[in-house]
Amino acid sequence: MSRPAKIIIDLAAIQANCRLAQTLAPHSKTIAVVKADAYGHGAVEVAKALEAQIEMFAVSCLEEALVLRENALSKPILLLEGCFDKSELEIAADNQFELVVHNGLQLEQLLDTRFETPLNIWLKIDTGMHRLGVSLQQFESIYARLSASENVKNIVLMTHFAHADDVGGAYTLMQIGRLEKCMQPIVADASKKVQLSLANSAALLAWPQTRVEWNRPGIMLYGLSPFDEVIDQAKQLIPAMNFESQVIALRDISVGESVGYGCNWTAKRQSIIATIAVGYGDGYPRSAKSGTPVLINGHRAPLVGRVSMDLISVDVTDLQNVHIGDPAILWGKDLSANEVASWADSIGYELVTRMPKRAAITFL
Ligand code: PLP
Repeated sequence: MSRPAKIIIDLAAIQANCRLAQTLAPHSKTIAVVKADAYGHGAVEVAKALEAQIEMFAVSCLEEALVLRENALSKPILLLEGCFDKSELEIAADNQFELVVHNGLQLEQLLDTRFETPLNIWLKIDTGMHRLGVSLQQFESIYARLSASENVKNIVLMTHFAHADDVGGAYTLMQIGRLEKCMQPIVADASKKVQLSLANSAALLAWPQTRVEWNRPGIMLYGLSPFDEVIDQAKQLIPAMNFESQVIALRDISVGESVGYGCNWTAKRQSIIATIAVGYGDGYPRSAKSGTPVLINGHRAPLVGRVSMDLISVDVTDLQNVHIGDPAILWGKDLSANEVASWADSIGYELVTRMPKRAAITFL
């Protein structure tokens, strides 16, 4: 028998979450965001599970796109950060990857290179995220230069929201307003058919006006809500990553005895402590505080003491009949990674994305 720490990815849940996105936005096309190894869920397996259901994949960079192509995924692939230099641009062009252009250097490289087949370009406009994107002032002239280039087939305009998880909040409204204003001259020109891509998961779920031609859901595909509060549209999401292990030791602890490195948890009552074979070496956050819920035999019990590399300790005094070999769920369908993250000063996005390749991974 091997070490019991395991990651089980439910691909059917990912397909169902994607269908939810599509039901909310029946007139949009779906770009499944599978960057960072599909947020830690396995990019190739996730992409294969979604390929028949979506129109396009998005990844961060060329390397991630090539992994999908090498694994026979044939749907269009968008590079969200575009290319970093000319040699990448040539490889991207040979593979007909679609490119985000977000800065002037990328624009010059694109216009200076000769391609056999023109490329689809996604011009990113910085409406307030202030991370990537051409400025509102630069937009019109850059759009005109791209439109005039023989290297460019279609242009889709895109922006990214900084605070779409603030449902009804002023910042997203401001970003939408800025976008509409800067696009006015182009929209007014009837010869130009403008296509847009705005929505990440939070926008898709909570901002109907952002469900335009192309949506870009990421975290919701994996069943995690992007919101701190519960919102109706996100209730049907099914967490796709189940992180599990087992109880491998049990002991009685007397009042005043402490548990784990640093002795930072001390029993205030006679306690039963279960030791679980999982630790930060498997991706469980070291910053998780005493009290973080763990499911033992399906029941919640609190983490106690520090998380170590291979092991955690859980106070099971209030549970009945816990035995060595019993299942422990760190997160999954009945305990969201978001909830665990809230005990570890983190977010569900981070927990699932940074899983090391240690715990065995299985795809359902
Ligand atoms: N679009 C862009 C440009 C992104 O960078 C990301 C993720 O960071 C997404 C879409 C997907 O975001 P989310 O995972 O919040 O749905």
